[in-house]
Amino acid sequence: KIEVSGLRKSFGPLHVLRDINLTVEPGGVVALIGPSGSGKSTLLRCLNLLVTPDRGSIRIGENRFSFGPGTSPLSKYKLAGFRANTGMVFQHFNLFPHLSVIGNITEAPMTVRRMPKAQAEALAMELLTKVGLPDKARDFPSRLSGGQKQRVAIARALAMQPEVMLFDEATSALDPELVGEVLAVMRSLAHDGMTMVIVTHEMAFAREVADKVIFMRDGVIVEEGPANLVIDEPQNPATRAFLAHFH
Ligand code: ATP
Ligand code: MG
Repeated sequence: KIEVSGLRKSFGPLHVLRDINLTVEPGGVVALIGPSGSGKSTLLRCLNLLVTPDRGSIRIGENRFSFGPGTSPLSKYKLAGFRANTGMVFQHFNLFPHLSVIGNITEAPMTVRRMPKAQAEALAMELLTKVGLPDKARDFPSRLSGGQKQRVAIARALAMQPEVMLFDEATSALDPELVGEVLAVMRSLAHDGMTMVIVTHEMAFAREVADKVIFMRDGVIVEEGPANLVIDEPQNPATRAFLAHFH
């Protein structure tokens, strides 16, 4: 479960997140949509503390952090534990180019979780099978297509056995014919009960997979609700104007 309350973040004079409140139930899938610059990536980055919020609180599973005056700074130890519990997949794959596919997936479990190599490799093979790439284990990222790289990135995030998965436009950089294979992996994760927050411009996918769609603009949640309602019958004029681009 994810609970965010009163989240605020500014970069200098720019208020990027103004007062974000959000709950994702265990096994829930939330799609975050909105125009460029509305704060979607910043919100996602706050959720795994790549960006430190100015105010508010975030709870993911058993971990809860509050930010603002009077709160204690995050210890490195707590931060590492928190991040390990929150898998993130970015638009650009960020695979380690000098490591093989299996090396990419086993690196964090071995260094952060102190998992023995044989166990980490068995886990990696299981995850590569899940994303449909068991035969690519020994290849290097440079040999893979964009869709394959992104599926490895998902397997790598899953290797830390996170409680939640965050996807920031995971298919936006892909050639159109490669989008489907990545969405298929995300869809199967959702069906397996993974708690997920997805920033996406794939409205058909959001409608199909998300329980809840949140429309953000200028750092504020403008409209939220069941996917079919928000996408097909948006109430707010700003949501309507935004979605008009996709029809
Ligand atoms: P897009 O759809 O283009 O990815 P977004 O909704 O993800 O947009 P964010 O990346 O969260 O938007 O950015 C929101 C605003 O915050 C933008 O105006 C951006 O320039 C600004 N911003 C984001 N990160 C930083 C940073 N590290 N320093 C300064 N400004 C930032
Ligand atoms: Mg973004």
